[in-house]
Amino acid sequence: MLLSLHLFFLMLYLRLGHTSLPLVINTWPFKSATAAAWHALQSGGSVLDAVEKGCARCEMDQCDGTVGFGGSPDETGETTLDAMIMNGNSMEVGAVADLRRIKNAIGVARAVMERTEHTMLVGESASVFAENMGFAAEDLTTNESLNVFSQWLKGNCQPNYRKNVSPDPSTSCGPYGPKAAQTQCNGERQVNIHSHDTIGMIAMDTDGHMAAGTSTNGLSHKVPGRVGDSPIIGAGAYADSSAGAAAATGDGDIMMRFLPSYLAVELMRNGADPSAACKSAISRIKRHYSDFFGAIICANTTGHYGAACNKVPSLTEFHYMVADSESDTAVLKSVPCF
Ligand code: ASP
Repeated sequence: MLLSLHLFFLMLYLRLGHTSLPLVINTWPFKSATAAAWHALQSGGSVLDAVEKGCARCEMDQCDGTVGFGGSPDETGETTLDAMIMNGNSMEVGAVADLRRIKNAIGVARAVMERTEHTMLVGESASVFAENMGFAAEDLTTNESLNVFSQWLKGNCQPNYRKNVSPDPSTSCGPYGPKAAQTQCNGERQVNIHSHDTIGMIAMDTDGHMAAGTSTNGLSHKVPGRVGDSPIIGAGAYADSSAGAAAATGDGDIMMRFLPSYLAVELMRNGADPSAACKSAISRIKRHYSDFFGAIICANTTGHYGAACNKVPSLTEFHYMVADSESDTAVLKSVPCF
């Protein structure tokens, strides 16, 4: 009797847990991306379609200037893109990093997953692959990114991401060599709310199939060739339909050292609720880098979700978007950072 009562409540819990599926959740208030992903699901698309369409919308809208073309010029003024997409049922992944000339990075990531046996392609070769697959080659530079770049040049190439080096004595814009006695780049990390962002997205359907993905143009003034956390599996995002999914945003150079998305999913596998899993993943990084800039979103196998962020002066509250069958539209959510 007691056992059947237990079973009844367990089934009720599982059923209730599923009532708000399908689900789309993404980092930052990138509402048009959530709406595009939601629309994809509502029109019969798969969770992979939702993640691809949602992130692609951000790439075209240049969400915040931090996703897609025309943002975050590197030290040479070029915009390069990182993206990944993961199928939580099959555990297949496609990723591209340091992608040049192609606007639709998440589309190329999906092509890597579905048109090759590989998992990640990088740099010029990734761009050539994309061109061969029919993606249009375009200039990713805009007046805006040119302006950011020329302001940076005028400011003697400060801030930058180099450390323990000295620039040519006649300029502070390089070329750089190992640190000499006097002038040196201070190596102060300039990652703040203005120099970056990323769309990280999770989608889940009524059958519990999960997918996750990311797309970003990385950090302004990065050293050419720099790849952040966003296209790194388990760092930028991770999805396993039997455990949960997560996606991260923030200072990728720090965050990728801790695979926060993988960690959060494993914690959910072991029973942590999404908010607790997100918090633990942030805490793990905090232990070593107390003032890092970053946040993470998490969803478990019943479609419950949560988020967490590290509290720094430029981030005291983290905003993210959710659409589910209850809201039937993109709704802004926020979580206080800790
Ligand atoms: N994680 C991204 C990167 O480091 C940037 C961001 O999400 O803010 O490339």
